[in-house]
Amino acid sequence: MQTVNPTTGKKIKFYPEYSLPKIDSILNRTEKSFQSWRTFSFKERGLLMKKAAEVLRTNKDQYARLMAQEMGKPMVQGQGEIEKCAIVCDFYAEHAEYFLTLEPVHTEANKSFVIYEPLGIVLAVMPWNFPFWQVFRCAAPTLMAGNAVILKHASNVSGCALAIEKIFKEAGFPSALFSNVRVSSSKVKDLIEDPRIAAVSLTGSTQAGKSIASHAGAVLKKIVLELGGSDPYIILEDADLENAVEACVNSRLINGGQSCISAKRFIVVASIFKEFEGMFVSKMQLQHMGDPLEEGVTIGPMARFDLRDHLHWQVNRSIKQGAKLLLGGKIPPGPGAFYPPTVLADVRHGMLTYQEETFGPVASLIKVADEQQAIRTANDTIFGLGAAVFSRDIKRAQRIACEDLQAGSCFVNDSVKSDPRLPFGGIKQSGYGRELAESGIREFVNVKTIYIK
Ligand code: NAP
Repeated sequence: MQTVNPTTGKKIKFYPEYSLPKIDSILNRTEKSFQSWRTFSFKERGLLMKKAAEVLRTNKDQYARLMAQEMGKPMVQGQGEIEKCAIVCDFYAEHAEYFLTLEPVHTEANKSFVIYEPLGIVLAVMPWNFPFWQVFRCAAPTLMAGNAVILKHASNVSGCALAIEKIFKEAGFPSALFSNVRVSSSKVKDLIEDPRIAAVSLTGSTQAGKSIASHAGAVLKKIVLELGGSDPYIILEDADLENAVEACVNSRLINGGQSCISAKRFIVVASIFKEFEGMFVSKMQLQHMGDPLEEGVTIGPMARFDLRDHLHWQVNRSIKQGAKLLLGGKIPPGPGAFYPPTVLADVRHGMLTYQEETFGPVASLIKVADEQQAIRTANDTIFGLGAAVFSRDIKRAQRIACEDLQAGSCFVNDSVKSDPRLPFGGIKQSGYGRELAESGIREFVNVKTIYIK
């Protein structure tokens, strides 16, 4: 597996795939570690998880640099990502016991209660866009619940995968409890079928989700799927436009637009459309695109050349289908997988950037007559990850968020965010199951009923 620096297009390092005997030996060692780890108290597990947070904080710059080199994330965003990983480790170190504590239930029995037991080894198939955060948000609760983790990371961030494995080693976790297994996606089926793997968590594209769900379904293994999105942001006529534009642009451009919960479709009521459009385009222009290692850069290159080319194809197809290009839309000269902040207006049902996920800095502006049409348009998608609504009338916005929008998370007057305290996940083709909060740690456990007469 070859890692490539998307800023320069130069090869970084070749990582050979693991052989079958090596994978077999790792799985045996992980299985053995799990048997002892499951007997650790929450306090013992929590101490090690806190240590992992310390290792993350100590080496923050080193990990941020690795992400910049392997997938183009600006340094300051990488440092923020590492801090967030440390926060999720601390969060579960402090809350796992409370989330998984024995629950007495009143029945006719002398005693009845529910306990939460770990399932075993969880296979984590992870994406490149937040190479540390996605792994930690899955691993911290999964390990704190007493499970072990085998990581199959995205091939283009193989260096990050090794660094993460080392963090758990340095923190003092039992040997191989968290192990990296470097294989191509075509070998994931064999891992899922391996009897030592108890369950699977995938964060990735809807296409990968369908494939993994079918393989896991065939062997009846529990899965959590965190897949793609095309988050709609509704801007109503009574919105605070300064705040709305700020949130919309930040959400569209965070991580170069390569976030599942980036705002992707901007649904704006006709009476304020022109004003919103002007403010939005101006703010999209203010970005500083360049080498992610340089200070002040807000947008690096996209993570891979093929992803950049696909995004450009989606933009060109949409223009052919009738969308109007207001900004960007041209591949800049020079090396690197760069793509500029791009704005399309007059986007309508049937156009590619309306129907598909746009995983990069491309915004689709959609004009609607009123609130009802805005809601219909927001829900007119195969996805259901996040959604936001902007209005000064909080009651109205709350009603739309609670009753009308089809998504796993609905935010009012702010951009959709992931936060260890809040459940995170989607509906429709954005997947199923939840990560983070109490819901996340309860995904990979046996909810065991005990009844004593
Ligand atoms: P991806 O191509 O689906 O890859 C994700 C992971 O799955 C990688 O480890 C990849 O390995 C593996 N994979 C790909 N196809 C597979 C298959 N058919 N069977 C088994 N494994 C397979 O996604 P990505 O490009 O890395 O990430 C971007 C996508 O992830 C976007 O759609 C984004 O919205 C989604 N995402 C969702 C969330 C969420 O929380 N809902 C968060 C972040 C990202 P290789 O690299 O070796 O191919």
